Amino acid sequence: MFQDANTTQIDQAMQRAYAAFLQYRHTSGKDKAAFIRAVADEIEALGEAVIEVAMRETHLPAARLTGERGRTCFQLRNIADVVAEGSWIEATIDTALPERQPLPKPDIRNMLVPIGPVVVFGASNFPFAYSTAGVDPAAAWGAGCPVVVKAHPAHPETSEMVANAVKKAITKTGMPEGLFEHVHGAGFEVGKALVLHPKTAAVGFTGSFAGGKALFDLAAQRPVPIPVFAEMGSTNPVFLLEDALEKEADKYAKLYAGSITGSMGQFCTKPGLIIGIEGQGLDTFSNALAAEIRQIQPAAMLHSGIAKAFRTKRTDVLTQESVAVEAETSLAYGEEDGIPSVASVTAAQFVANPALHQEVFGPFSLIVKCKNAGEMQEVIDHLEGQLTCTVIGTEQDLSKAVDLLSSISLLCGRLILNGVPTGVEVCAAMQHGGPYPASTDGRFGSVGPHAMKRFVRPLAFQNFPNHLLPDELKAENPLVIWRMVNGNWGKD
Ligand code: NAP
Repeated sequence: MFQDANTTQIDQAMQRAYAAFLQYRHTSGKDKAAFIRAVADEIEALGEAVIEVAMRETHLPAARLTGERGRTCFQLRNIADVVAEGSWIEATIDTALPERQPLPKPDIRNMLVPIGPVVVFGASNFPFAYSTAGVDPAAAWGAGCPVVVKAHPAHPETSEMVANAVKKAITKTGMPEGLFEHVHGAGFEVGKALVLHPKTAAVGFTGSFAGGKALFDLAAQRPVPIPVFAEMGSTNPVFLLEDALEKEADKYAKLYAGSITGSMGQFCTKPGLIIGIEGQGLDTFSNALAAEIRQIQPAAMLHSGIAKAFRTKRTDVLTQESVAVEAETSLAYGEEDGIPSVASVTAAQFVANPALHQEVFGPFSLIVKCKNAGEMQEVIDHLEGQLTCTVIGTEQDLSKAVDLLSSISLLCGRLILNGVPTGVEVCAAMQHGGPYPASTDGRFGSVGPHAMKRFVRPLAFQNFPNHLLPDELKAENPLVIWRMVNGNWGKD
């Protein structure tokens, strides 16, 4: 239905984006905020029509998609508020010391400035929040960068409708046309050409490890390498401590059955590994979880490619040595459906077999049974970087788990206590990203205003008179975060 962009169209889109960059980078925070808020307004104005199209394209239910659209608009307005306030650019003033010996010190001032057009790849499982006007475009626009989106081929019509809403916001707020470009491409060629284009300054990606790593490698091989901020898959390990299991195994089993199978397990934060110490508590938990899983209604996955990948990866885990199926849904399922299921394996087998450490994207989780705390530590030592880790424990458990918590915190971007990893709150303190391979750069995340820092660089101005400095670096700016005046820290 939508034509793949050809080489000329890709070049024209990038050239328009670059022309827009030269203008938009000088736009005030307040005007950028007005544009970003207008995008949210226009997405809301699409009404039910866009929800119906997204339902058809993704098989996700109306309530989930309506909630996701609300979150997307909140995300945009949240970034707009921070951009309008202005302190996020970290203005730093270090005034001159002309009399300093043996050499005078110059006046140096520093702030974050935008880097240029950002190419964005969204994920199939979030047609709004991590797609066309989702977390990456919001962060790029806030930072002062135009955005070129490659529509996800799993929801091209939804993407086109959102793209039209963004274009309306551009017109209404008088922004340059190339602030947003939208191209289609069913294969990898369009995406590759966008990453390789000389005017592309950075890439925001949400999707599989294979996709993120391929684009990261491609960008590193360019004559001018550029950063690729890829938020990828994760197994989100959950550590069950003994006293909590003894007291509340049933409660947590119910909670986790929902977290593993909600939206057919198609969340990057789905708990894919559950790690506990063998005993009565873990048995009660496993049995209760199995009973819940048997009753979960299967449903269609996002698209046939995801359904196929789920089956292949699930079978791959289930056929590894010593892996046992704990439970599978007892309800009928079709070819395109997820199969709610849990399996188990011993910690020794898990540690020895990296095939068990991979993400199975869908309603599946693996219980890892440890003989003792030493084995649990060994499992931790063999895990790769994660978006999240979760610990379930009572006060009594946690008082003995200081070292365990410390080593788990090395693994992840978000550490959760007595909850589930699914559900990413959109707020200033959120970290959605983690050490490699959860993300290509664990120093950043894609959710919340901090995400803007991926698309800026520091620029220092040396010996500039006040009238030639950007407003943010003028002496009278009250939002300067660090100020060194006459060799002293302080606010003048
Ligand atoms: P995907 O298959 O990697 O697709 C994402 C986008 O990347 C698509 O536009 C895809 O284009 C493109 N792409 C993938 N491989 C490419 C390559 N080698 N060269 C050029 N372009 C490439 O991911 P998905 O299936 O949509 O989403 C599921 C995955 O995303 C899961 O692993 C999930 O955990 C992860 N995810 C992560 C987060 C997070 O925030 N960390 C959030 C949501 C989902 P084509 O469609 O043309 O292949």
